[in-house]
Amino acid sequence: AKRAGGARHVFFDQAMRGQAERRSGLEADLRRALAEKELFVVYQPVVGLQPGAGVDRGTGVEALVRWRHPKRGIVGPVEFIGIAEECGLIGALGDYVLAAACEDFMRWRTSLGPRAPRLLAVNLSRAQVAETGWTSTVREILLATGMPPHQLQLEVTESLAAQDTAVQRHLHELKALGVKLALDDFGTGYSSLASLHLLPVDTVKIDRSFVSQADTSAHHRVLIEATVRVAHSLGMDTVAEGIETEAQSRVVTELGSDKGQGYLYSRPLAGPDLEAWLLAE
Ligand code: C2E
Ligand code: CA
Ligand code: CA
Ligand code: CA
Repeated sequence: AKRAGGARHVFFDQAMRGQAERRSGLEADLRRALAEKELFVVYQPVVGLQPGAGVDRGTGVEALVRWRHPKRGIVGPVEFIGIAEECGLIGALGDYVLAAACEDFMRWRTSLGPRAPRLLAVNLSRAQVAETGWTSTVREILLATGMPPHQLQLEVTESLAAQDTAVQRHLHELKALGVKLALDDFGTGYSSLASLHLLPVDTVKIDRSFVSQADTSAHHRVLIEATVRVAHSLGMDTVAEGIETEAQSRVVTELGSDKGQGYLYSRPLAGPDLEAWLLAE
């Protein structure tokens, strides 16, 4: 038993060292990536679900960052957003994503006309929203790209939107610019339906962990229905995230969610593929 424990200890040590090395390697690489334009943005469609007579493809898109790493291939945000926050690169990364997404959005207005998406969602991290002066950066990007503020939806998570008064003030500053705010991953954090009215948000995004069980669990259906009802009573709309099956789509539509997003409709797409998807019927 002792020997097995020892071996396990060595194994954990090596695993942790491997993780730390991978991390510090990524940190150095990330600085270069920003300079050399290895980051790019893909877009996942957000569709309209109501009145339930087929999905509305032009409702919106969510911008999701990707990293084309010269050695590791395409790296997803879960692997590097945390690192970017810790080493002070999240500001530059966030500005880059916001500007690139606004530019693409404005291009689609010309290339797609009436088929262009009507809303652009961009994710914010805690460190970005905490930064003072960040609201003016957003204003500058809106002015430089011509992006209409009311067509931009900035997404924050529950943990971020709660407590912190500096964050609260910055969220209100953003709202004053005319942009929309969405509460991301609703249901996963500590805040609740009872505190929803405290947040200056326009949209509640119901987390995938609820949506993925919408068709199999009565408990999850009740929670989704209550979320939709409370959101609507506060004048907010809802997006059901991570819809993968027709059955889930049918249930969340019946429960009244205004919009939906997930692999059932489309995976995140590169710009040109998104244009083709929006033009197809
Ligand atoms: P999120 O904002 O909740 O974005 C949704 C994530 O779920 C995306 O993962 C998307 O690809 C994935 N997804 C969409 N539909 C489905 C589905 O039907 N099934 C499953 N299994 N997954 C689905 P992704 O692109 O890996 O992004 C992960 C997270 O990284 C995002 O979660 C967001 O919190 C963060 N993120 C992405 N881009 C940015 C960014 O530009 N800035 C910041 N600060 N965070 C970002
Ligand atoms: Ca999001
Ligand atoms: Ca989410
Ligand atoms: Ca998430």
